[in-house]
Amino acid sequence: MFEILASAAPGFDVEAATRAYLETLQGAARESSDAYFEGGYWLILFGAAAAVLVDWLILRFGLANRFRNLGERVFKRPFAITWLTALLYTLVGWVLSLPWSIYTGFVREKQYDLLDQSFGAWIGESLIALALGLAVMPLFIAVIYAVIRKSPRGWWAWGTGVVGLFLAVMLMVAPVFISPLFNTYTELEDGPLRERIVAMAAQYDVPADNIYVFDQSKQHKRISANVSGLGPTIRISLNDNLLERTSEEEIVAVMGHELGHYKLNHGLWRVTFMLTIIGLGLFVVSRAAPWLIRKYGDRWGVRDITDPASLPVLGIVLSVYFMLATPAFNNITRVQENEADAFGLEAAQEPDGFARAAMRLSEYRKIEAGPVEEFLFYTHPSGENRVRRSMQWKADNVPNAAMIVPEEGYLDPQ
Ligand SMILES: [Zn+2]
Repeated sequence: MFEILASAAPGFDVEAATRAYLETLQGAARESSDAYFEGGYWLILFGAAAAVLVDWLILRFGLANRFRNLGERVFKRPFAITWLTALLYTLVGWVLSLPWSIYTGFVREKQYDLLDQSFGAWIGESLIALALGLAVMPLFIAVIYAVIRKSPRGWWAWGTGVVGLFLAVMLMVAPVFISPLFNTYTELEDGPLRERIVAMAAQYDVPADNIYVFDQSKQHKRISANVSGLGPTIRISLNDNLLERTSEEEIVAVMGHELGHYKLNHGLWRVTFMLTIIGLGLFVVSRAAPWLIRKYGDRWGVRDITDPASLPVLGIVLSVYFMLATPAFNNITRVQENEADAFGLEAAQEPDGFARAAMRLSEYRKIEAGPVEEFLFYTHPSGENRVRRSMQWKADNVPNAAMIVPEEGYLDPQ
């Protein structure tokens, strides 16, 4: 009786149990994990620089001006002129950004052995994404410019509403119309694992129909799971790497975490918080872009902010703003991830399974970080913090908790 009521198991040392996990990542594996993730910090800066350079090239060589002129020759209505300008801008921007995309998305991933696709397969997926972008973005941009024409100074507020509607619709349709273009989604196979997951989900009124498995091993071998969709399309998807590379304890622990995202309505909250940051960004654009156009508009052939040729000017301001706002976006995500971690430990009751899964994510996320580093750059808690949280939960909830030292080689890719 007293043993069960005891809040911490005697003899179970949270710190020692945490270190036992962390020490299983050593040598070359740890160095590679650190280097890959730390390189990512620079990619934020260089990515913004690359985006600004592309927009500047489009302005400097008068392309934006020519796109709009072509639009004005073909169409009469401002909406259609903007649509065609935006279509050409999206297409040319994609081509000019291609070297950067190939380096970050293909070459670098291959260097760290994190991608299992041929270049042909990779570029094929990029082209599908481009086709989607061309179908959606020019329309969206044309709507934004219609709002700009209506209210050249106050458009940022209405524009934020348009972005919110757009994000909500995209979030809702993505799992049904977009994700299946890249991967095949199937039901979880029958068996004891499915029964256990379905039973856990049922405790939180999540129907088994809303749980999918997808074949991400065709892209890479990272373990992953996510909650996507909104309202009627909300669902949990586990990738096949998670199912094939890990133990039942890990799968159930990760599933518990995803149930947290699902039940805590993280998708909707995330859109709401993101909109606040985006709204501020549009306000900055509504003030900075006209200033840039007054200064350089003649040279670029851009008349004013209602002119769709101003699109790359808006792009430059937004690229710089979003780079500076990266820590804000990261913190929105990391707060939710912390909540989902806490939820998942209660739901799955598999602290060691969650600790093992957290260690496995070191393939692409540096396992230990200082507090400032985590605050600025981490979208999820560091592996160290996740393992410690798991061990603390174990100490608080498992009677006579015993320390488990993971076996040698469990992190090796299979
Ligand atoms: Zn998560």
